[in-house]
Amino acid sequence: MVIAKTVVIALGGNAILQPGQKGVYEEQLENVRKTCVQVVAMMEDGYRVVITHGNGPQVGNILIQNEAGSGQVPAMPLDVCGAESQGLIGYMIQQSLSNLLRGSGESTPVVTLVTQMVVDKRDPAFQKPTKPVGPFYDEAKARRAMAEKGETWIEDSGRGWRKVVPSPDPVRIVERDAILALVESGAVVVANGGGGIPVVDEGGVLTGVEAVIDKDLGGQRLAADIGADVFLILTDVPRVAINYRKPDQMELDSMTLDEVERYQREGHFKAGSMGPKVEACRRFVVNCGGLAIISSLDSAIDALKGRAGTWITANGERKPN
Ligand code: ADP
Ligand code: MG
Repeated sequence: MVIAKTVVIALGGNAILQPGQKGVYEEQLENVRKTCVQVVAMMEDGYRVVITHGNGPQVGNILIQNEAGSGQVPAMPLDVCGAESQGLIGYMIQQSLSNLLRGSGESTPVVTLVTQMVVDKRDPAFQKPTKPVGPFYDEAKARRAMAEKGETWIEDSGRGWRKVVPSPDPVRIVERDAILALVESGAVVVANGGGGIPVVDEGGVLTGVEAVIDKDLGGQRLAADIGADVFLILTDVPRVAINYRKPDQMELDSMTLDEVERYQREGHFKAGSMGPKVEACRRFVVNCGGLAIISSLDSAIDALKGRAGTWITANGERKPN
């Protein structure tokens, strides 16, 4: 009997919103539909698929809507906005993917799960917020928020002032067992969107916190928790490069764990973009011994087959899946 391989796919921002687009609903839905065509191709190839995704632009827009409407209805905290974005994006994926599956005669259910991720209150990230969220404001408003609410704001490269929040390490998915049960039942599961909603667990009591979890690091936790065979990060570049954007840039077909660690020390992967992806892959290979791949969205199938993307394994092997 052939046992299907389980792939956790981490979809980058470009899977939902392309650079230069305004974020009109129809644009986002069309991008999601194109992404789902790739997912269907993977399923037809026999993979069990679990999907996670980024939410930066969407949660940013929800924050702006909350702020703009706050004269009429109360604004919701960041964790609630994160939950809303999981629903928004999950809805688009559920609908697009089910439509495509039904079109090819499949009745596989697609389910989105609002997912909470436990973080550690003592995580050093809480002492040093780094992740900008929400709209830009003028200095006066930023200074007021810092003085009155104890928030951290930074001047963001001449574009104005922005609130920054901590980006703690993901520790544990609260809904892990439910996700596993859904996967076992044969459903395509969309989970842990935006890296998960950050919560702290104090003696079994969960509370949302104002923070943002990196979606690639959160995706790694998901992949490890459900025992995935492959962790596939789909983004907007075909491969990981060393000496990125320098004359001697070199794109890599594969990396061993030793190479990953050496390149990390040498600073080849930018914080906030390629850095967390490579680190997430490193953790997956260390924790689960499996295969992690970073590739572009449109070559997802080729990447799984070993014909595209950067493969990260313990010993750098690259054999067809
Ligand atoms: P996503 O929305 O998919 O998470 P990001 O913008 O966070 O995408 O990360 C992908 C980007 O990382 C690429 O567009 C590229 O500009 C950048 N990047 C930084 N360092 C590297 C590197 N060493 N090799 C390849 N891409 C890199
Ligand atoms: Mg990113």
